Amino acid sequence: MNISGCGRLRAKPGKEFTMPVVYLVIPCYNEEAVLPETNRRLTEKMRTMMQTGLADEKSRILYVDDGSRDKTWQLIEEYHRADSLVRGVKLAHNRGHQNALLAGLTTASADCDCAISLDADLQDDVDAIDQFVQKFVEGCDVVYGVRNKRDTDTFFKRTTAEGFYKFMKFLGVDIVFNHADYRLMSRRALEGLLEYREVNLFLRGIVPLIGYRSDYVYYDRHERFAGESKYPLKKMLAFALEGITSFSVKPLKLISNLGLLLSLLSVLGLIYALISYFTHNAVAGWTAIVSSIWLLGGIQLLCVGMVGTYVGKIYSEVKSRPRFRIETNLKDEED
Ligand code: UDP
Ligand code: MG
Repeated sequence: MNISGCGRLRAKPGKEFTMPVVYLVIPCYNEEAVLPETNRRLTEKMRTMMQTGLADEKSRILYVDDGSRDKTWQLIEEYHRADSLVRGVKLAHNRGHQNALLAGLTTASADCDCAISLDADLQDDVDAIDQFVQKFVEGCDVVYGVRNKRDTDTFFKRTTAEGFYKFMKFLGVDIVFNHADYRLMSRRALEGLLEYREVNLFLRGIVPLIGYRSDYVYYDRHERFAGESKYPLKKMLAFALEGITSFSVKPLKLISNLGLLLSLLSVLGLIYALISYFTHNAVAGWTAIVSSIWLLGGIQLLCVGMVGTYVGKIYSEVKSRPRFRIETNLKDEED
């Protein structure tokens, strides 16, 4: 991952530095309980950033209504009427957090210099937004929000979540530890993201693949301000499985390895069975049955693993992810 600290000011040579147009992208699913407070805090934050020269006047808060069944969309419409700072996108169906986020980021990418995604429930610390933008101004294209500690989580959520990050690392997936979806992306990083056409979205796995310079902002994650979690255990497990199977073919390789191991073990089994046979410890027919069970089991797994290896290749091809991204293109100003 290209974590570098981004100590270079975002201004073209010879040109005056201009304030960035910042978009805050917030996916909302049945969030009527928390939205009034979220909107109050975010509009206040945006106004302060505009006054202190951190964000351009064209900056916006963009709510994405992910097919809510409560009054979420009515609230968004109301905020939009009352304040030009607020924009809204409504999805036709509930498509899940990741798709709602992508819809928001896609919309924002047309008009912003950078977009920050955050949850509607105020768990992501709103006061950290300045640091994100500061890092963007210093030249970062991606800024990951990383949780300081997990003491607002239940013991169960904490251990399963941390175990998941470690398992992903083991599978060779480049993922930022304790980073969820609180992040800033520059316009070109967003454009990069849009080139990933995969249907099974796991954004925190894709974003590091985009490359460019990135950095972290550490923040304390709060309790949900109001309403309840839209991620019950079943959805959480499905999401974790999505992450693993969308980014790693290692489970297929593990099957191959297991098959190979079993085939080798079957040789030992065969030796043991033969010894039993010759020392007359075995019932007639046992030797042949036991050794063939081991050998056949091993060979079968090995073959499934081999097939899996090809399936894995097809899977990567079908994704047709972009194969490269040009970070810098040296050319004359007039070109
Ligand atoms: N969310 C969404 N669509 C869904 C589920 C959740 O847009 O189908 C949004 C939700 O409104 C919130 C964010 O995703 O802004 C994170 O959800 P939540 O806070 O319920 O998850 P948790 O923090 O409990 O993991
Ligand atoms: Mg939450």
